[in-house]
Amino acid sequence: MRYLSTRGGEETDLVDAVMRGLATDGGLFVPDELPRFTPNDFRGTTLAEISAELLAPFFEGSGLEGQLGAICRDAFDFPVPLRPLVEANGELSVLELFHGPTAAFKDVGARFLAAVMERALPRFTDQRPLTILVATSGDTGGAVAAAFHQRRGIRVGVLFPKGQVSPRQQHQLTCWGDNIRAFEVEGSFDDCQALVKAAFTDSDLQRRHRLSAANSINVGRLLPQAAYHAAASLWHWRKHGTAASSIVPTGNLGNGMACVWARAMGLPIGDVVFAVNANRTIPDFLSTGQWQPRPSTATLASAMDVGNPSNMERLRNLIPDFAELRGTVEAYPVDDEAIRAQIAKDYARFGQIWCPHTATGFWVYDHLPASRRVGRPWIVCATAHPAKFETIVEPVIGRAVAVPEALADLLQRPTASVPLVPQLPRFAAELDRWK
Ligand SMILES: *Cc1c(COP(=O)(O)O)cnc(C)c1O
Repeated sequence: MRYLSTRGGEETDLVDAVMRGLATDGGLFVPDELPRFTPNDFRGTTLAEISAELLAPFFEGSGLEGQLGAICRDAFDFPVPLRPLVEANGELSVLELFHGPTAAFKDVGARFLAAVMERALPRFTDQRPLTILVATSGDTGGAVAAAFHQRRGIRVGVLFPKGQVSPRQQHQLTCWGDNIRAFEVEGSFDDCQALVKAAFTDSDLQRRHRLSAANSINVGRLLPQAAYHAAASLWHWRKHGTAASSIVPTGNLGNGMACVWARAMGLPIGDVVFAVNANRTIPDFLSTGQWQPRPSTATLASAMDVGNPSNMERLRNLIPDFAELRGTVEAYPVDDEAIRAQIAKDYARFGQIWCPHTATGFWVYDHLPASRRVGRPWIVCATAHPAKFETIVEPVIGRAVAVPEALADLLQRPTASVPLVPQLPRFAAELDRWK
């Protein structure tokens, strides 16, 4: 399999696409051709087994073919259950993507990326440790740190804005030690991001260190996400013989794009519906045809606060014709008031507690015309555990949210971070001193 830039200027293999993340022309890497499957092509039952079958064509010619099974077992070492909420032929199910080490679906992509990078590294002549830099406003940094913790030949610098992440998020960023270092930056998230960018474009620093990124547009994060959408559709298919439709809470369109890829590969997925928060760039585009990225607005579903969703470039690359695109996916915005109301409603109705991101998905389900729900199966993706967003959820439901075991373990660990003023020479000195 070859990987092409969405901007047309470049072609490469899987390992190079994963190690670089972004093409030099600024485009995103996409597979040159999606493989086609039918449900009966799959033998495996677990997520790791189904992933290995689905992703085999994507690893062809990468040199890592023989390790794909191990990569999938490594990445998917936690449960991803598809749980029916309402049984019957019009089954409503929830795909729980939050049982990983940091209790959010970003664990899936980050763990897969780490598993691929660790196995690809020995094939390079440059034997220096790979230093991955990641700026975070909260969620991504924790997932990346957890995924790369104690991986051979790799170290991770996480930059977060001082005083601007929640206490639990801060704990997840600073509790690792070993090959992970957390930098507490005197500034905003934008300062953190600017510092990482400055490090990547400084040729002296590039000479002294082998730098890489683990950002969300890496194709190595999207592939395993396509795998869980595929597995969920197969589990449903095997039980009921029908194609369930999917509702996918999404912001940067990573989770959404992965679902579109899975369906385009022939997996039994009906409609694909994106749930977004008050950042309405995607639904506005689908209703007007005008692509108008804008600054993001802060919402309760903060991990989806994206005003310029990067993966739209992949979606438009897959389906360039606007009329066709509009017939293929739908997107609906959900504001904060609706998020709170949905959390309360589903706690009363199902005894289920959603995180604010997951609540957007259930709001969209409830607001589909009845004709699309009655007798028709749907899967809603749950993207984070509510205990990660307890300050929002607990006042709505009027009780404490139990902390899952993996998260509780993390919250027990001691923390450490390095204070940093956002100036490149200071950051460079820290990287030089890091042995
Ligand atoms: C990142 C994130 C999302 C959105 O993911 P995209 O890749 O932007 O679609 C949704 N929910 C949670 C909890 C997240 O952390």
